[in-house]
Amino acid sequence: MLRIHNTLSGQLEEFRSMVEGEAKFYYCGPTVWDYGHIGNFRSAIAADVIRRYLKLKGWRVTHVMNLTDVDDRIMAKAQESGVAIDDYTQKYIDAFWEDFDALGCERPEVAPRATQHIPEMVELIAKLEQRDHAYKSDGSIYYRIKSFPEYGKLSKINLAGNIEGGSERVDTDKYEKEDARDFALWKAPNNPEETAWDASIGRGRPGWHIECSAMSMKYLGETFDLHLGGIDLVFPHHENEIAQSEGATGKQFVRYWLHFEHLKVEGETMSKSKGNYYTFRDLTAQGFSATGIRYFLLSVPCRKQLNFTFDALRGAEKTVASLRDFRARLEEAKTEPGRDDALHSAAERALTEFEAGMDDDLNTSVALAAVHDLTREVNTVLAGRGLREENKRELIAAIGRIDSVLNVFGDPQPQILDAEIQKLIDERQEARHRRDFDRGDEIRDQLAARGIILEDTKDGVRWKRK
Ligand code: AMP
Ligand code: ZN
Repeated sequence: MLRIHNTLSGQLEEFRSMVEGEAKFYYCGPTVWDYGHIGNFRSAIAADVIRRYLKLKGWRVTHVMNLTDVDDRIMAKAQESGVAIDDYTQKYIDAFWEDFDALGCERPEVAPRATQHIPEMVELIAKLEQRDHAYKSDGSIYYRIKSFPEYGKLSKINLAGNIEGGSERVDTDKYEKEDARDFALWKAPNNPEETAWDASIGRGRPGWHIECSAMSMKYLGETFDLHLGGIDLVFPHHENEIAQSEGATGKQFVRYWLHFEHLKVEGETMSKSKGNYYTFRDLTAQGFSATGIRYFLLSVPCRKQLNFTFDALRGAEKTVASLRDFRARLEEAKTEPGRDDALHSAAERALTEFEAGMDDDLNTSVALAAVHDLTREVNTVLAGRGLREENKRELIAAIGRIDSVLNVFGDPQPQILDAEIQKLIDERQEARHRRDFDRGDEIRDQLAARGIILEDTKDGVRWKRK
């Protein structure tokens, strides 16, 4: 029985989908104004793990992830570069998918772009106006928070206080609002050059929150199962999504809200504005592997904060190298016929513990501990009394099942890996002959990050795995 912490109730609840066997969920995806940092990817990977686990447990999933391809930052950047916003964002959309695929995330069923759903947003805003939840002011349209008494039910925000802000994305509107807490649904252009759409509700561009209400309801229905996102989105983004969607339909919008804690750097949230971030590309350029980064990002449960350090990342890199080696050795191991009962129980125990961890609010550290316990037991057998045929089949299947969710074992290709190492060693030797010691050191560090130690001997370079 899968239990998740629902932000709406503040409690751990059994997850039951509206339609048996079908889970519909929405994840607030990237704003494609720049490369994503690994904090963003921690959340994307958490969503991927949930997706994969729901599938493992037999649900058919419909997973929607939006791409925010219009906002103030994008418009400013596009204007700076003298290009249309679509031309500006394309590069970052392509980069996002490249990183997302490399990090072993399965693509969602639908990945709608905000700019391609303007009519749906306009329709929703018109509905809110009809129902008195929205009003025009100076050509812009705002949500009237006092028209929705349940406002605050997700974030438990105190309505009496001043609730403006709370996020990096505070509206910078300078128009007149009835109430300081009201937020923009539709923004009139500040000048004639600004990106804007002509619509029945006037010329303008959408506010950020409306896109998620419009696109999630379009693809998942007015009420759907699960909504995911980073903890920073609880207020105001998700609170506003509820006000918009429930204001328009009069129905419950989302049944379970799940929020991921942040990736931190020295106690501070990793973010572009703080400048304390690493992109996936920064780290692969330093020789870290996508699987190592994925392992690191899911090594702590998504509901707990994770602190970024290079030491921890190097540790993850070593761990995934040993998992990859382990699976390769298991697959190559010679066997004798029959079955060893102790090892049979170990495989069953690993699967039970893995699922118990995942069922408990997606606790990936318990799930990973089950994997490590299993590899330890099997290693002892591989080193000693020999492996039985039935156990081998069963163990490979158990690891396959677990890795269909965690996806941290990487591809079992030891030969290719060896060749790759040799190529880098040759390149390092050449660099040293050219007296390019910086390049030589860089290659040595790259290899070290992948768990390969070099030894310069009088007969040449030897290497070994840590
Ligand atoms: P953005 O591109 O800022 O719209 O963010 C995309 C996703 O990343 C959202 O679900 C955010 O909540 C999430 N996010 C942003 N910063 C972090 C962080 N430091 N750690 C984990 N998730 C984050
Ligand atoms: Zn959203």
